Amino acid sequence: MPALLWLTSVRFQRPDGGCLEFSEDVVTTLERYRQNAAGATESGGVLLGRLVLDSADIVVDEITEPTVSDRRSRFFFFRSKERTQKRVTKAWCEFNGTRNYLGEWHTHPEDDPRPSPHDLANWKRIARLAKYEQNFLFFAIVGRLQIRVWEIAKQGTPQELSPIESTQL
Ligand SMILES: [Zn+2]
Repeated sequence: MPALLWLTSVRFQRPDGGCLEFSEDVVTTLERYRQNAAGATESGGVLLGRLVLDSADIVVDEITEPTVSDRRSRFFFFRSKERTQKRVTKAWCEFNGTRNYLGEWHTHPEDDPRPSPHDLANWKRIARLAKYEQNFLFFAIVGRLQIRVWEIAKQGTPQELSPIESTQL
């Protein structure tokens, strides 16, 4: 059952220690956007969450969902900037600065998603140019059976995070 496979990958090991966790709400929302139907279009948005105090752990508590201003097709997703920026700013204020911009997510119409050359170039550009508190960003691709996540330091190259099986928790 794909849903179970999916749920084993909500925690990831970061390359330099600590882990990245997607909250249950976030996983439920991402699950809705999986491109299982033949005509389903790519979706995407940003990851928002917190840096756990005195650790290298990160929790994604919220994601933005596609808006009407985004351009979407089966193999393409282009996020409109303005609306999302409003949401990011609002979240930061509502949660007294503890809900930060952590990165981006988008879907792929493949079981086990791989970033395209366009994705990699785009991620590096975002990591270089976006404004964010911490020294890194995460980029998640939501496939039909798996979610995969890459971490990029400000001037670095993408490093894939390894999933932590739920049995290891
Ligand atoms: Zn992509």
